[in-house]
This record gives sequence, C-alpha cells and structure tokens, in this order.
Amino acid sequence: MPATRKKSSPPKSLRTADRLARLGLSTDMALVLHLPMRYEDETQRHSISDAARQYGQSVQIEGVVTGCDVQYRPRRQLVVTITDDTEQLTLRFLNFYGSQATQMAVGKRLRVRGEMREGFFGLEMVHPAVRSVDIDTPLPDALTPVYPAGEGLSQTLLRKAIDAAMTRIDASDTLPDAMREKLRLMPFSEAVKVLHHPPPEVDENALSERTHPAWIRMKFDELLAQQLSMKRAQAARRQQGAPVLASPGSLTGLLTKALPFSLTSAQQRVLEEIRVDLAAPYPMQRLLQGDVGSGKTVVAALAATQAIDNHYQTALMAPTEILAEQHFRKIAGWLAPLGVNIAWLTGSLKKREKEEARARIENGTAQLVIGTHALIQQDVDFARLGLVIVDEQHRFGVAQRLTLRNKGIDSVPHQLMMSATPIPRTLAMTYFADLEVSVIDELPPGRTPVITRLIAQERRDEVIARVHAAAKEGRQIYWVCPLIEESEALQLQTATETYAMLTAALPDLRIGLVHGRLKPAEKQQVMEAFAQGELQVLVATTVIEVGVDVPNASLMVIEHAERFGLSQLHQLRGRVGRGTDASACLLMYQGPLGLIAKQRLAIMRETADGFEIARRDLEIRGPGEFLGARQSGQAMLRFADLEQDQWLVEQARDIAQHLLVNEPAIADAHLARWLGAKEDYLRV
Ligand code: ADP
Ligand code: MG
Repeated sequence: MPATRKKSSPPKSLRTADRLARLGLSTDMALVLHLPMRYEDETQRHSISDAARQYGQSVQIEGVVTGCDVQYRPRRQLVVTITDDTEQLTLRFLNFYGSQATQMAVGKRLRVRGEMREGFFGLEMVHPAVRSVDIDTPLPDALTPVYPAGEGLSQTLLRKAIDAAMTRIDASDTLPDAMREKLRLMPFSEAVKVLHHPPPEVDENALSERTHPAWIRMKFDELLAQQLSMKRAQAARRQQGAPVLASPGSLTGLLTKALPFSLTSAQQRVLEEIRVDLAAPYPMQRLLQGDVGSGKTVVAALAATQAIDNHYQTALMAPTEILAEQHFRKIAGWLAPLGVNIAWLTGSLKKREKEEARARIENGTAQLVIGTHALIQQDVDFARLGLVIVDEQHRFGVAQRLTLRNKGIDSVPHQLMMSATPIPRTLAMTYFADLEVSVIDELPPGRTPVITRLIAQERRDEVIARVHAAAKEGRQIYWVCPLIEESEALQLQTATETYAMLTAALPDLRIGLVHGRLKPAEKQQVMEAFAQGELQVLVATTVIEVGVDVPNASLMVIEHAERFGLSQLHQLRGRVGRGTDASACLLMYQGPLGLIAKQRLAIMRETADGFEIARRDLEIRGPGEFLGARQSGQAMLRFADLEQDQWLVEQARDIAQHLLVNEPAIADAHLARWLGAKEDYLRV
C-alpha cells in the first residue's frame, strides 16, 4: 500500500451512505419519508443596503466576492467581503474548510443567507449559509425544506439524496382510491411532493403547524402503520402457546372463603375476564386499571391461585421494595396459611438468601414469587412460570416487561399488568393497542370520602395542632415533605428537618421518618412500625407514593402541594381513607399561588375520582410527561401528535382493523412502506 495514502479514509460516497444509514436512511423510501422539520424562505432577495435595515432578521442577499483572507486575530477565521453595488458586507467563518475558501474566491458570485449585524468594521454576517450562483441563477419559487440532519450531513447533501430517491421510489398509493377519497386524504405521491417541494402558493402556516393536508396524509399513514403493526403483534401473540390455566381449583376456593370481605362486583367482573384469559392456550396480556384503593391486590392474588391450582408458578413484580414488601405481607398473610410456598426476591437480599430463593424458584418449590426488578435478572430461572403480574406497570419500561415474559420455558406466561394511573384514551389506543383492558370502577364499601383542604404554609402551627389532636384520638398521620425536583439530597434534607421540627413540637408523639436513602431493611422497619401502630406519625418523602396500605392512617399532610403533579397528589391522598374513620388530606401550599396553580389545587378539592384528575392533569401537562416520553407511544411516532391528532388515531385504528380483516395485502404493503426495518421496534 502506498505510504502516502491516508489512513482508513473510505471513499466519499460510502461515507455519505454510512452517515445516511446512521439516521436510519438506508432505503429510498426511508429518505422520502424523512420529512422537513421546517422551511426557509429563500424566494426573496434584498440588496445589501436594504438588508442593512433589517437587523436581527434572517435575510438573503447576493454579491460578488472582493476579498477572501484568513485572519488570525482575534482568532483564526475566514473573512470574506462581498459587494452588490449598493454596499459592502463582511462574512466571517470561525470554523471553515479549505474548500470554502476556494468556493468564495475573489470574483465569485454568492447567494448569502444570514443575520445582518453592525460589526466593528461595518456590516457583517457570522456563519451565513452560502452558495455559489451565476448571475442568472433564478431564485427558488418555493420554500426550501430544512431536514433533521446528523453529523456530517449537510442540508444540500440531504436534499440531493432525497430528491434522487423521490425519482426512484414507487410512490403509488397504498390505499385504494375509494377509501382514500372517503377519508378525504391527499394522495401519497402528492403529499410527499408538497412536503419536500412546497409549491409557491402553499399555505405556509398550515405547513409549519403541520395541519396542511399533505401533513395530515403522512400522519395518517404513520398512525395506520403503527396500528397495523400493533394488531399484527397481537395476532402473533395469539399464535404463541401459553399454559392453559383452566378453571380455578381448590386453592382459589379456599382463598375466597378465607378473605375477610367479599369482592365488589367490579372485582368479580374483572376477575372473570382474567379467568377466561388464563384458561386460553395463548398468552393473556391484560391491563388491570383501578383507582387507588380499588382493591387490585386481591384480584392479583386470585389470579395467582388459579395458576397455582394448575401447577404453574406466578411471579409478581413491583417497582419498589416497599411496594413489593407490602404485597408480600398482604398476600403471604392470605396464602401462607393455606400452605402456599412463597419466595421473596429483591436486590437487597443477602447473597445466601438470594441463592436460596433462586433455588426454590428453579426447582419449582416456590409457587409464588414476589419481588422487585431482581426477578428479571438473567440468572433467575423459573421451573414452570405460568403467570406474570406487574404492579404499577407504567413504572417499568417495555423492555423490562418483555424480559419477564420471556422467562417462560417452552411457552409464554400470561401477563397481568396493574395500574392505578388511568391511561388516556389515545395512549391506550397506541402504546397499549394490543392490550386488553379491565377496569375496576368501584371502591370497596365502607370507605369514607377523604376531605381535602387547602391551607397556606403560614398556618403550619394549626396543622401541627391538628396532627396532635388526631394522634390523641388514636389515629395515624402521614406527613409528606415537598418534592424537590433537582435534588434527592435536598428532599432528604427537608424531610430530616421536618422530622426534627415535628419531634420538637410534639414531644409526646411517636414519630418516624422514611425516605429513599434508607437501607431497604431500615425502610421496612419504619414502615412496619407504622403499620403496627407503634409510630403515630410518619414523616415521609414521596417514597410512600404508591401502594402503601395502612388502614388506620386517616390524616395526610402534604407540604408544598403546589410542587406536585395532580396524579401524584391523588396517589398520596389515596394512602388515607382506607379504613372506616373519616379521613382528611391537608394540602399546604406556599403562597402566593398563580391562577393555574390555584386551579390545579382546586381540582384536588373538587374531585376524588382519579380518572377525572388524570384527565385534567393531562390537559395541563400533556401526555409526554404522563408515561415518560420513551414509553408514551409518542416516542414511536415521528409526525403524528397523540393529543392534537386524536381523531386521526381513531380513524387509523378503524381502517387498520378493516384492512387486516378484509385486505391483508394492502396492510402488508403499507407496513412495508412505513416500517421497513423498524417493525420490531414498534412491536412492543
Ligand atoms: P389498590 O387497588 O390501590 O392496590 P389494594 O389492593 O391495596 O388497592 O386494596 C386497598 C384496601 O382495600 C386493602 O386493605 C384491601 O385489603 C381492601 N379491599 C380490597 N377489596 C376489598 C373488598 N371487596 N371489600 C373490602 N375491602 C377490600
Ligand atoms: Mg396496589
């Protein structure tokens, strides 16, 4: 190899292809579906003197280069002067390639776009976009697309690649004309043309707001692909074998008899739905939704007994150790007396304990396994896993859910996901498109509604007095400390300070403190003491947000309630009102509150319905935040917006259903166009 040849420098064209591939643009169709994020208006040109009056705005001028030098002060830069007979303009480039100096050699004609400013030596532009033109190069008569670009990919290069791809693709419609017209959708070929090369008369606003019919078509197509893919995944799932957990047997009967209460009719209904699924030869994937306190745990336990009755294991996974512990306690309390072998597995177990638990899981002695993420670790093998229950499922990532599902040996276990967080309709239709949904829409009887009051922080003394009075009546109190977004350490500090303050103010009360930094065993000890009534007041951070169940607690104080999300406040409030005592929730806030903050807290006072609260919270916060962007389904969509385009989601769902049943070939073609290699990614 000649020594002069540069080290590992691939041919230029290959590098471009690589870079395009890195953006996922390795096919012509992918390129064509790489749609502009915005447009620039290069249809206007100003004289330099004219442009000089438009400070701070992006303008386009044209002129001939009169000077082109590299300067070294104040730092290395390429300085180019151009003139157009009206005035002279200096262009500065701090980072530049040698080729740029050639492009901008003296005598060349340039079209330049940038922001005009008054420099020390007169008019200048820093880092303008530059292109060489001839004296008769026409101005574009359409908006110029600006594409999402990656490293080393210029707009020019992307435009070229996309334009070339446009000429090569088969842009025929995936939808039959009649259907397309009925849906009032623009033809696909026309839509891509408009988006990549908007005609001069295009409605620019509609284009940038993405409400233009061309955008609508692309969004519809994207949503349709998503719906098709999800429904196909659902069908594929039905092809997989799952253990047939036929009707419930003796253990289920024993548990039902042993329960200190009878199921609500809502619980009975969802349990029936689950039972039917479990008895099917393909894996259940059911989401069980129920407001805080609606009694999901007992439904989970009765699903588990059905698996155990059929000689299969059940795994129950919770997002936090505290929550897993609660489940363990509650469910073991019901099932251990009936002779069920229950294993407990979390990250904090000692090595020996873990090994012992793993051995019981592996040899099948453990019939029910309760724990945290530790359950999905690679080295846990189940002998006969039949049912996986995931509590507060939205706190787990898709991947984590799938891992547990893959723990079945020769069949896929049934999956029951539980959530107290109601999922908005559009999300349910996209992210959860292939889940069946059961809803417990009724609370167990005997609950007294929680009275909610808003109290200014200044009245803390009154609140403390109220806590004292409640404790003297034998009731228990949660005191939740403010959420401090930036810092867990700060949150911890306030909790510690509040604990010290309350201990000093109420020396005759037994007060405990629980927060995220405690060791699991310590946490457990404090929670246990509170659950047993040894502690009267529990000062806590948001670690108690989910699942904690202490029926005797009937007063909840939340400091700086204005810093919490509504759904979070609802979850916290749900920790009280679980017994027969009248319960109260005191939301302390730091005034003065803005109008929106006031409205939000007022919602908490007005309604106790978690679904209603979530709906209103969603209005304020948007769905991205709702489930975390990565899982929200929005993350999989490039063009459609779940909120704004809800009607399109519904249309796409109906059409997807129709196509899969009646015109599978069209469904195939549409999926191939839109997903290509991405299909797996959508198959959550
Ligand atoms: P969540 O749905 O929030 O997980 P839990 O399962 O923790 O609710 O149930 C809340 C409380 O209600 C628990 O103490 C549970 O034992 C009790 N419970 C559940 N179902 C019933 C019922 N049908 N009647 C009375 N109490 C019930
Ligand atoms: Mg629960």
